[in-house]
Amino acid sequence: MSGGTGSVPLIQVQDLRYTYHAGTPQAVVAVDGVTLTIERGESLALIGANGSGKSTLAKCLNALLQPSAGRVLVDGLDTRDRDAVWAVRQRVGMVFQNPDNQLVATVVEEDVAFGPENLGLPPAEIRRRVEEALRVVEMWEYRDHEPHLLSGGQKQRVAIAGMLAMRPACLILDEATAMLDPQGRAEVLRTAARLNREDGITIVHITHAMEEAALARRVVALAAGRVALDGPADEVFERADVLRDLRLDLPPVAALAQGLRAGGLAVRGRPLTPDDLVEALAGDAHAADAATGAATRPT
Ligand code: ADP
Ligand code: MG
Repeated sequence: MSGGTGSVPLIQVQDLRYTYHAGTPQAVVAVDGVTLTIERGESLALIGANGSGKSTLAKCLNALLQPSAGRVLVDGLDTRDRDAVWAVRQRVGMVFQNPDNQLVATVVEEDVAFGPENLGLPPAEIRRRVEEALRVVEMWEYRDHEPHLLSGGQKQRVAIAGMLAMRPACLILDEATAMLDPQGRAEVLRTAARLNREDGITIVHITHAMEEAALARRVVALAAGRVALDGPADEVFERADVLRDLRLDLPPVAALAQGLRAGGLAVRGRPLTPDDLVEALAGDAHAADAATGAATRPT
């Protein structure tokens, strides 16, 4: 989808450092030596306490910020290369927390057209992409609506459509669900999951909500600008000790499973979502049935 060669990882972060107000007494080291590779098609949750550097790292991934040291390669393009900035931003789109700060036009479809217009695409191609993107996020019927009249979830989906119209390889959602009601959150999460599953778009979901982080296949936890944990979601959320030190919660289902185990119940596997847990417990119930025999089952 990105037009990349596919021969290099989508994103390579090599010993990245980023300092705000460098060389002044107000200098803040926000990212302090991060090395990370993100492959095409990954679904990754980026977690960490407030101020741990998540947003700064994200902005380095799409060339909104250039490294103070180290480097970031997107599809092999160095984000420090000024000529590559637009190619990088086309590949890695970001959706931010506040749905009201991201939509600039007065009509939904004009907003989605904004990116492709900046890419200098011909009008027919722009119209085609706008329609496709709005259909993907299920907002095509709202194309003539005024963005400010939409719900939070609808606004975020229009913002996602604006990125999709650029045909990105990766979408970064920087706490993009944080200001939404439960329905809006569900809409955005469902949209992101479908883009990942069906279109192979890499999703980097920055979130404080551990039940949302639990939906990703890989979880990276930042602490003070460094990677504290990085691995498959079920393995990262096994590290209750480390997460506690980072002042992070467990996903509710993982906490429940640990509580059940502590209470003597055999919960198999590492359930992270309600569906996982149902499966883990239903499996036990079936095993118990089999052990006691069908004759003892109530009819
Ligand atoms: P997170 O997204 O994990 O909350 P940030 O990347 O926003 O973390 O912030 C990391 C550190 O950088 C924090 O100490 C924060 O105060 C600081 N910081 C973030 N943005 C700026 C800025 N524009 N100017 C100065 N310091 C900043
Ligand atoms: Mg942030």
